[in-house]
Amino acid sequence: MNPIPTSATTHAFDVLIVGSGLAGLATALLLPSHLRIAILTKRTIEDGSSGWAQGGIAAVLADGDSFQAHIDDTLVAGAGLCDLAATRYTVENAPAAIDWLRQMGTRFTLHEGELHLTREGGHSHRRIVHAADATGAAVQQTLIERVRAAPNVQVFQSHNLVDLILSDRHALAPTWPSRRCLGAYAFDESADEVQAFVAPHTVLCTGGAGKVYLYTSNPDTATGDGIAAAWRAGCRVANMEFIQFHPTCLYHPKAKSFLISEAVRGEGGRLLLPAALGSRRFMPEHDPRAELAPRDVVARAIDFEMKKHGLDCVYLDISHQSPAFLQQHFPTILARCAELGIDITREPIPVVPAAHYTCGGVLTDLRARADLSGLYAVGEASCTGLHGANRLASNSLLECVVFARAAVADIVAQTPPALAPVRPWDTSRVSDADEQVVIAHNWDELRRFMWDYVGIVRTDKRLERAAHRIALLRAEIQEFYRSFHLTRDLLELRNLVEVADLIVRSAQARHESRGLHYSLDHPHTLAEARPTVLDPAARPRV
Ligand SMILES: Cc1cc2nc3c(=O)[nH]c(=O)nc-3n(C[C@H](O)[C@H](O)[C@H](O)COP(=O)(O)OP(=O)(O)OC[C@H]3O[C@@H](n4cnc5c(N)ncnc54)[C@H](O)[C@@H]3O)c2cc1C
Repeated sequence: MNPIPTSATTHAFDVLIVGSGLAGLATALLLPSHLRIAILTKRTIEDGSSGWAQGGIAAVLADGDSFQAHIDDTLVAGAGLCDLAATRYTVENAPAAIDWLRQMGTRFTLHEGELHLTREGGHSHRRIVHAADATGAAVQQTLIERVRAAPNVQVFQSHNLVDLILSDRHALAPTWPSRRCLGAYAFDESADEVQAFVAPHTVLCTGGAGKVYLYTSNPDTATGDGIAAAWRAGCRVANMEFIQFHPTCLYHPKAKSFLISEAVRGEGGRLLLPAALGSRRFMPEHDPRAELAPRDVVARAIDFEMKKHGLDCVYLDISHQSPAFLQQHFPTILARCAELGIDITREPIPVVPAAHYTCGGVLTDLRARADLSGLYAVGEASCTGLHGANRLASNSLLECVVFARAAVADIVAQTPPALAPVRPWDTSRVSDADEQVVIAHNWDELRRFMWDYVGIVRTDKRLERAAHRIALLRAEIQEFYRSFHLTRDLLELRNLVEVADLIVRSAQARHESRGLHYSLDHPHTLAEARPTVLDPAARPRV
């Protein structure tokens, strides 16, 4: 490793990983133990969507299943837009990914000594490896213990990525033949200062951007920070218009991001309008499969009814099942609803669709490389092309591990470049102004209009309105960012408005309906499927 002259706030590592979800932890643990690794994470090491994943991880392991069947299922879900090479690569590396997770100590559910495989919507075979109904938690806990025990890995909690360090902008003596990423500036909330983390290799594992919408199943950390930072640094992003919405998230002022599993509909749950509208069942009017239609169809139908009647939510009724059945099949949902005063054995559950998964992200290749030398993106922050226009269930945790491995293979194959000192963070911009109230107001406004105008059903006019609001907000937020004291909220707001802009521009560029992008003005699907690739070099930055 090349020593770097450090200031009080400069750290030097061999590899910098931003994010402690499955993508980040897997990358850290797969790297050779002689490398010094830093993991930055927003609040605690447990942060992220990974620990919340319930279903499982897809891999071809059963007799009668085949790589080709898994590939075909992924391509069908992706509505013609999956990258075939990325899909093949992910599917063929899935069994090794599961093996590695088991070697790490993950205790998946077994049946007669073998991995128990479930089947999920869109999969033609049983191929979902799981740990009961809390797969993400089991995997995360196992890897967290491993990382804590690894002497070469240092975890920096409450450290928020601000921006990437770039050779042409931040190096004191630029000596590289081409632009490269030299690490990242991070805001340490505890010390209330921005620190420089310098490393020859930086891996963005910052997850998705569900928080750009009013309703989301994602944790608070999902503000698209890595996507926004890579974009600001000059990297292309792709397919940002494809946001997967889960049809049924609990609607209650005290419940944040609590999913009502699709299995509730599977067990006969019926979607109803509110009592004031006669508690009428509406799904049969939208699709012959009614409540059992695919999740994007159900989400679209709920959105339609909510907009048509001006509703805050609709209702999901499973009260025809016995209390014993509900206790046996849905103990967590029963208990959580009871805590909030909803007795699901007797009354319907208020639900709204919620932003669940960001299919697009930082454009990467099969080595997980982004456009900038020294920069990688892995997991939900990336766009490998695997998900195309719609993600197949249980392919996302898989992608985290497969592409963590790809990034690691690429990193170890390189001779690290010599590093040089970088500029310390410029603090001259900071004033004492306290504008928390305005920041909170802008957060709410952004998430509300993204929900109203860029949600499940889009129109040209709504997208135009959203673009207009984004331009106004962006100017205001940039002003805050230039003048005010940094806080996590301000950093997140700056990234959310960037990501909102990327989603709207991608949606405006697509003159068709495909997968998760549905436009009333362009309801047809074009014969040729093309990804939406936005290039920062093609547009002057404001
Ligand atoms: C409720 C739910 C259920 C799901 N179920 C499944 C399932 O069954 N199967 C499946 O395959 N997928 C599932 N998914 C999707 C899957 O969980 C995610 O796609 C996957 O976990 C993403 O992993 P990741 O490591 O990329 O990001 P995350 O796990 O979200 O981790 C992101 C990390 O980045 C950190 N971070 C973000 N911004 C910054 C910043 N500015 N500075 C520092 N750190 C930062 C966060 O603190 C966090 O540690 C589910 C998702 C949800 C929300």
